[in-house]
Formats: sequence, structure tokens, C-alpha cells
Amino acid sequence: MKTFNKKTVENIDVNNKKVLVRCDFNVPMQDNKNITDDRRIRAALPTIEHLLEKGASIILMSHLGRPKGEAKKEFSLEPVSERLSQLLDKSVIFSDDDEVLGNKTKLIAKDLKPGQILLLQNMRFRKEEEENDTDFSKELASLGDIYINDAFGTAHRAHSSTAGIADFLPSAMGYLIAREVKVIDEVLNAPQRPLVAILGGAKVSDKIGVIENLLNTVDTLLIGGGMAYTFIKGMGYEVGQSLLEEDKIDLAKELIIKSKEHNVELLLPIDVVVAEKFDASAKHYITSIKDIPKDMMGLDIGEKTRKLFEEKISSASTVIWNGPMGVFEMPAFAKGTEAVAASMAKSNAKTIIGGGDSAAAAEMLGYSDKMNYILTGGGASLELLEGKMLPGIEAIENI
Ligand code: AMP
Repeated sequence: MKTFNKKTVENIDVNNKKVLVRCDFNVPMQDNKNITDDRRIRAALPTIEHLLEKGASIILMSHLGRPKGEAKKEFSLEPVSERLSQLLDKSVIFSDDDEVLGNKTKLIAKDLKPGQILLLQNMRFRKEEEENDTDFSKELASLGDIYINDAFGTAHRAHSSTAGIADFLPSAMGYLIAREVKVIDEVLNAPQRPLVAILGGAKVSDKIGVIENLLNTVDTLLIGGGMAYTFIKGMGYEVGQSLLEEDKIDLAKELIIKSKEHNVELLLPIDVVVAEKFDASAKHYITSIKDIPKDMMGLDIGEKTRKLFEEKISSASTVIWNGPMGVFEMPAFAKGTEAVAASMAKSNAKTIIGGGDSAAAAEMLGYSDKMNYILTGGGASLELLEGKMLPGIEAIENI
């Protein structure tokens, strides 16, 4: 992966320029107006503040939810403009335009002065957005002089506002994308060693590409969660009622062989918490992976495995984690996930959480403040970890 050759917001002169910035303001809302978690809006502030300081006028673009190419009021970005205005302590012009790029919006954009901010209506009110339609991308580009992509959560999508627009304007990455890309780039290409990766979550099939790519770079790979049982089965043990992807057993065996070829220490659970059923109050106990009863299911890693994983984490210099070790939503099966989060929080290593459920788990268990990096885009960070170049980053100009 080569990403460091892409321009960032610091490599581009924005003074007196109209800068179009693609943000990820896809925030959760109650009753279509009360924002329940504004972290994505806050995450966009460094780029916006930098542009203001450098004398730009700013045109912000985002999507919200899935209006599927139609103007639907419940997906309006108006609540975002209000919250953004509070956070910046500055007025934000919101163009409530069903066409997104109607005449009224074009006029506001044309008159925008340095220091002013305009937020466009939900990009996905126009079907052309997700089609990455060239004319629409060009029309969007005509509003400004420079394009900045700062929407990491949608960087793996080739849409007009995330990729197509960059064909028509000088472009750069915003601080948010640049930071996430740098963290992953360092893990893949120049990590502080030992580098330990921890993978969990429900399915092997979702993470095959990540495992294969990480085998080229990690020193140790720890596998837990539901996905571990396909490996355990591949090692010749019975897994009872645990999650199992029959069609991936051979692949799991191949990955075990590959890890040896790459001199990667691949560690699977040695014991697990088995339960009678998938239920928070189900009877459960810890057993070796060699003795999982036919009628029980593994819902967490066991105590010996927790200790083993903790040791590996505590002696690492870089730790990257994606996917819970068990059904952390149920307290009885959260201990493995908590052990991983706690030892990462304690360690002096550079600690990175790769989005999605592990970020939610760390937050729920109270450890998120102690991590060095929590990547924001689940899908996008997994694709980068697979070694793929994302369309929203590829579109940006090289330095
Ligand atoms: P993912 O979206 O692939 O990261 O998977 C996260 C989900 O996997 C969480 O909701 C966990 O409850 C679930 N999970 C983790 N371990 C297990 C397991 N052993 N059995 C069933 N589900 C699991």
C-alpha cells in the first residue's frame, strides 16, 4: 500500500479559495432531529478549523442514512448544521435544497466569502451521487476551487462526492483521513515490533483478506471470537453448537500452514467458555478446546487463553485489534473482550482499535480513552488492512 504520497490539507494553499470538503456526518439521530452521538461531527473539526484559519470559504458535503436518491425530509442534514454551528461557535449556512445543487445553492456558493461555511443538503438525495455520475461530479466541482476528502467512513465507496469530484479539482486528504491512513500504513509497512494483531468477531469469511494480508507483516496473530471455531475445527477438534463456517475449514487450515511459512506466531484459543444456549443467563463453564461437548456452544475465550493473549499484548510494541473475543454484549461472555481491552489499555505499546464492534466494546467497557487510536470507519479500515487502496484516497492527487 502506498499512501504517503497523497497530498494532505497541509500541502495545499487555500487562502481566498472555495474549498469543498467531503465529511462523514452520518450521525445517529432520534426522531430524525436529536443527534445522539456527535463524534463524527467533532472528528471533522480539525480540518474545518484549519481551513478557516487559512482564509478559505468552506462548502461541506455529506450523506446521512439511505434516502436512495430521493429528497426525504427525515434524512435532512439540517440538525447537523445546527450542531456544527454550536461546536464551532459560528454560523453555518444550510442550503435546504431537495436538488442539492439547485440554483439557490449555486448562488449561495458563488457569494460565499472567506471564513463562511455552507453545508449542502444530503448528497444521497441525488441518485447520481452513488452512481458516481460524471456530470454530477463536474457540477459539484463547479461550486469550488479545491476538493478535500475527510470522510474516512465512506472512503471505500466510489461516489461523486467521495471520488468522482477529484477528477475536476486540485485535491487533498483532510486531517481525519490522513491520520487513519498513516496509522494503518505504519502497521502494514513500518511497524514498531513486536507487532501483535488480535482478530475476533463473528465470521472468518469477513476477515479472510485481512488475515492473509496481516500474515505478511505481524509477528503474532491472536484469533478469538466466533471465527476461532472454524480454525479449531480445522485443527481436528469438535466445536459442538459453536459458530462454524463449514466451507471455510480448509481455508482456515491453509492459513495455519501459511502462518508457519511466514514465521508468524498464530495463536488460537486453548480454552473457551461454553454455554447451553445463546442466552445471557445460560449455564456456562470453561473447558479445553479439546472437550467442547456436542450440545454446547463456545461464546467466549477461556481463562488460560485470556492470560496467554494478555502476555502477548503486554510484550508488544504495536497492538492492533479488530473484533470482539466473545459475545461481549452479554456480561457472562464479555470477559475475554474485556481482558484484551484492559491489557491494551495498560500496555505501553502503540494501541490501535480498528473500528466497528471492538470500538463499541472498548467504549462499553470503559477503555476507549486509554487507546492511542480508534479508527473511525469499520469497513474502510478493514479494506485498508487488506492492503486495498480505497477509491476515496486513490482519487486524491499525489504530492
Ligand atoms: P463482527 O461484526 O464480525 O466483528 O462480529 C461481532 C459480533 O460477533 C458481536 O456481536 C459478538 O457478539 C459476536 N461474537 C463474538 N464471538 C462470538 C461467539 N463465540 N459466538 C457467537 N457470536 C460471537
